Amino acid sequence: MNQRLTPPAHIGIIGGGQLGQMMALSAIQQGYKINVLDPDPSCPCAQLAETFIKADFNDVLALEHLAECSDVVTYEFENADSVLIDGFNLNGKVPQGALALTLSQHRLREKEFAQSLKIPCPNYSSIHKQEDFHQLHDFPYVIKRCRYGYDGKGQFTVKNQNDCDQLKLNFPDEYIAEQFIYFEKEISVVCACFKDGISFFEPFENVHVNGILSSSRHPAQISEQLKKLAYEYTLRIAQSLNYIGVMAVEYFVTKDGILFNEMAPRPHNSAHGTIEGCTFSQFDLHIAAITGSHQIQPKTTSLTLMLNILGQDLQSVLQKFTVMDPNHVHLHVYGKKEARTNRKVGHITLCAAQNAELQKVIEDWSIV
Ligand code: AMP
Repeated sequence: MNQRLTPPAHIGIIGGGQLGQMMALSAIQQGYKINVLDPDPSCPCAQLAETFIKADFNDVLALEHLAECSDVVTYEFENADSVLIDGFNLNGKVPQGALALTLSQHRLREKEFAQSLKIPCPNYSSIHKQEDFHQLHDFPYVIKRCRYGYDGKGQFTVKNQNDCDQLKLNFPDEYIAEQFIYFEKEISVVCACFKDGISFFEPFENVHVNGILSSSRHPAQISEQLKKLAYEYTLRIAQSLNYIGVMAVEYFVTKDGILFNEMAPRPHNSAHGTIEGCTFSQFDLHIAAITGSHQIQPKTTSLTLMLNILGQDLQSVLQKFTVMDPNHVHLHVYGKKEARTNRKVGHITLCAAQNAELQKVIEDWSIV
């Protein structure tokens, strides 16, 4: 795409979850129109759509319809059908392309790709059948289903062969056994790939609980040296994918450096704090990049701590919010039909100009 698509061009989004919703809010503010494809007409993004297409993500006719009524098409999650998207990409409608999607949908392919770029990963081996566990030594390992795993789903930690024997895996599904990493921190690097350059947000520092992202601090408190390494690896990945849009790469920080964990070719949960904490949010940059804007380099204007809200916590968080100073606490609720246990239904961003001030807001939040 050489020409910038100007409003009121139509942006089609495959997937109507919270990432689609926040992309849509940014796009609508800039004057774009939104079309959405999702099987659930009550999904968070549906109410923002000019045209809502109720269909499965692999429904070819529905995807064609979305492409016809949109000037550009984006996906907001990894499990969009990469083969079909490849088809659409032939006529240039999906700037993110299919390659990043194909790789990120499969944990083994993703790790092989990172290794091919000489980016260090946890040791891993593929598990296609129960006997493959016999090749594992140096326990513990994390066993992950290669496809359709997110938020800790399809993941198991095994401490010995006996644990492996107890696992009830669903072969012929493919699995990967990753060495358990005793990391010091987890970080993510979120970049925006434009037609003429790649911009970076400063890294995010993430805490997961039960495999689900719980909080992200921005900027991460890591050394300049680690930051440089994280940018360098992420640049290597983004450049080799011929990718346009926002993408995220997650790393483990260990005493020996950083290890690649996974990548996501889309805006990322860890970077929601950019809405309040940066001159441009990750959603602004994604929309800018896929509509053909020249490179934009965001600046950090506020320190942030983003806290995910899970379904079971929504009511208590809403209560807490009412007694906090709203200048430092920003509430986002995605409008999901049900507040299901362990499903992300919103997030809170705590902001402050200085570390000590942010620490005070965090303390206030934890005691109310
Ligand atoms: P993933 O879906 O692969 O990002 O895994 C979710 C979370 O599980 C990660 O963010 C880590 O907190 C934890 N985890 C995943 N893989 C490993 C590993 N190899 N070693 C230690 N913890 C892990």
